Amino acid sequence: MIKIYCHESIINVHHLKNYLESSGVVTVLKNESLTSLAGEVPSFECWPQLWVEENKAQQASNLIAELKLQQSAITNAEPWYCKTCNEKIDAEFELCWQCGGLKP
Ligand SMILES: [Zn+2]
Repeated sequence: MIKIYCHESIINVHHLKNYLESSGVVTVLKNESLTSLAGEVPSFECWPQLWVEENKAQQASNLIAELKLQQSAITNAEPWYCKTCNEKIDAEFELCWQCGGLKP
């Protein structure tokens, strides 16, 4: 098996695991419990890790690259301005939080 991902946050690792498995890549999570037992700031080796079968590694890394692209597209997107109240709204929101107006 090949380690394809590790992160200090188990939430991120779980998120990726779900994402990969919904695309048909079976993953194995390692070190899930070690971090909570460590007590201190977990060292890099203790971070939760995601492993896949070797024949799935290429597909998995493609999916990870895709996911990262999607995420950076969201964070890099321009904010928009509400047509009704002129409020500046961050790109990830579809509605104006001030007046409930729709993104144009
Ligand atoms: Zn508005």
